[in-house]
Amino acid sequence: RVKKKWAATQPKISSTRLALQIFDMTYGTQFAEQWPPVRASLLSEQKYGALVNNFSTAQEVVAGLEQQGAFDFVQEAFRRDCAAGPGVDGPGTSRDPSVVAGPPCAGAPESDSEPQSSGSLQDGRFPSLSPNIKCYVFPKGDITRFRPARPDRSGFLGYYLLDAASVLPVLALDVQEGHTVLDLCAAPGGKTLALLQTQACWRLAANDASGSRTARLRGVLQSYIPRVHCSEDKVRITSFDGRKWGELERETFDRVLVDVPCTTDRHSLLEEDNNIFKKSRTKERQRLPQLQTELLLAGIRAARPGGEVLYSTCTLSPLQNECVVERAAQLAQEELGISVRVVDLAPLAGLFRDVFHFAQGLRLGELVLPHLAANFGPIYLCRLQRVG
Ligand code: SAM
Repeated sequence: RVKKKWAATQPKISSTRLALQIFDMTYGTQFAEQWPPVRASLLSEQKYGALVNNFSTAQEVVAGLEQQGAFDFVQEAFRRDCAAGPGVDGPGTSRDPSVVAGPPCAGAPESDSEPQSSGSLQDGRFPSLSPNIKCYVFPKGDITRFRPARPDRSGFLGYYLLDAASVLPVLALDVQEGHTVLDLCAAPGGKTLALLQTQACWRLAANDASGSRTARLRGVLQSYIPRVHCSEDKVRITSFDGRKWGELERETFDRVLVDVPCTTDRHSLLEEDNNIFKKSRTKERQRLPQLQTELLLAGIRAARPGGEVLYSTCTLSPLQNECVVERAAQLAQEELGISVRVVDLAPLAGLFRDVFHFAQGLRLGELVLPHLAANFGPIYLCRLQRVG
């Protein structure tokens, strides 16, 4: 019998190359003529945002950023929204928020649509943007890079560099004064830091299954937040498997952020290190939608009735985005008797359409598409409210 010599003869393909091949097949079909520009953007240098640290000498930091030509896209939208005044329709009221009960992705029947959403969204304006979140970006087409942040006189760093679109899930979570908040997959901590910048969380639980990444999260918080604002009674850092959280603490939190592990599309195309498209990680990659569904379900269980859950990823994949939301909502209903409804994020997207390029035609959430003139994302976000 002749032995197959796969190991010796099969040409080796890098993880980044495999990721590109798979994306070309799947996203090429999904996005059609939109795919080539999105692909080119993903393969080009990403743009960053500078999340201002209110616990540093923020005025000096802001002056420095403005001197470089950057602007605060959050507060600019906030001012525009306030100037529009009450009752003035904001952009993007198109989608009808509905209870999600069936998974069309899995071929199950579509749910009944519920009547219109929460009162605060009925006039099509986003209810509130935290006046304390400041994130600076360079204008469209300007590819200037931010300098690394420097410590102020007290040793706290002035800003945190991140994909500016990853501030959107935090804004969409709409944390209000006195809320208890759970950040289920928190490390390395960009969104935890943004949540703390709102200065609205009464208690914040920041969790990540990975011990080493939780250590990084602690390091980030130490570099940005004075201990008095980060004491153990205010910020609880844990390292549990988030899938179990719903069993530990049910119906507890006003707001839950579920920023799940995903194929991290941009990273997968550019970095061999820790690439989820490595052959040895094939099974892990294939199991991502299941893990994401379980994490979202745990987040829904952890939210109090009436509380809200924000699901986010940094992939373009519908199997990891809308399909996960639909499946988790279906399981919540069928297995736990919990109903959730989608809160329309079109008004929020409308506020930021000059800064980010949003995909059209999503049924449940919003998706920031990478664009050569505004090379942020991909970031998918979907806001759910626990009805019962
Ligand atoms: N929210 C983070 C931020 O803004 O910096 C990024 C989170 S990253 C997209 C996903 C995280 O989920 C990873 O840090 C990973 O360690 C964590 N994770 C993976 N499986 C998990 C699980 N079962 N429970 C909790 N966290 C998990």
